[in-house]
Amino acid sequence: MVKTYHRPAKLEEALRLVADENDKNVPLAGGTTLALNVRGVDGLVDMSALGLSYIRLDNRSLRLGAMTPIREIQRSEPVRQAAQGIISESAKNYLTALIRNRATIGGILAAGNFWADLATVLVALDASVTIRGAAERTISLEEFIKNGPRKSLGGGILTEVVIPPAAAGAQCGYSRLAKVETDISIVSAAVCLVLSGKTIRSARVAVGNGSRPIRLPDLEKSMAGQTLSAAADLAARKVPSISAESDIRASAEYRKEVAAVLVKRLLI
Ligand SMILES: Cc1cc2nc3c(=O)[nH]c(=O)nc-3n(C[C@H](O)[C@H](O)[C@H](O)COP(=O)(O)OP(=O)(O)OC[C@H]3O[C@@H](n4cnc5c(N)ncnc54)[C@H](O)[C@@H]3O)c2cc1C
Repeated sequence: MVKTYHRPAKLEEALRLVADENDKNVPLAGGTTLALNVRGVDGLVDMSALGLSYIRLDNRSLRLGAMTPIREIQRSEPVRQAAQGIISESAKNYLTALIRNRATIGGILAAGNFWADLATVLVALDASVTIRGAAERTISLEEFIKNGPRKSLGGGILTEVVIPPAAAGAQCGYSRLAKVETDISIVSAAVCLVLSGKTIRSARVAVGNGSRPIRLPDLEKSMAGQTLSAAADLAARKVPSISAESDIRASAEYRKEVAAVLVKRLLI
């Protein structure tokens, strides 16, 4: 049961409270997960006074403070302008507007909600996350997801998500299939291409398999030097080899087939 509530004004104080071994204090962001379950939690460390809610353009990189609500990301003009708008579009598809008003980008990632289309898009855009513990570390979002939030955070606080500038002339697209607009996607896909005339110079492809984003480096490599229609044929052959699981929304086989269709449609 929650016994204490803290609202530190300094990150160092929040880190000290979270690291305190005598108390089971946890960081509080939008509270939409914690509101559902606070079993085993002694104290909440509210991070709303830490100055971590911001969206900044810094040397063409987008910096999203961990406490930024998803709705602000969805509506931000600099975010809309980046990567053909796919970050805002995927933010818009995160559950409902009521939840987007509270849930934060840091909360989504720290809670391991990697099924979010936003995670698929951020992986395609090569985003990284900054974590403050005893020291500050920046790791790729891909690595954060691979190791899982608990291990990646190591008891620290996720402070920022950084989206690097897309390569000059990069063209990005994102697509999803969901039963209804506000539901979690059955599959999502994001593709960023750098073209030289009608030929692909480089590509990044991420597919959300219903539980997490998967990058396809082999497909990306084989797409380089190909035309869009040849790349679409490669996607049709290679995307169905992604790992996927069956759940209440879809079977693994269906997910794999739809993933290939979404990637193909993003290419041609
Ligand atoms: C009506 C409703 C429906 C929902 N539907 C779904 C659903 O279908 N599927 C689903 O998975 N979730 C669902 N959620 C849960 C929720 O929307 C998400 O989990 C949300 O992304 C959490 O973000 P938050 O900012 O509210 O995090 P919080 O609830 O504040 O925190 C989530 C966890 O992450 C930790 N944390 C938060 N921020 C940081 C940080 N910066 N650094 C380190 N640790 C941090 C917290 O200590 C906590 O353990 C639903 C919630 C509601 C209220």
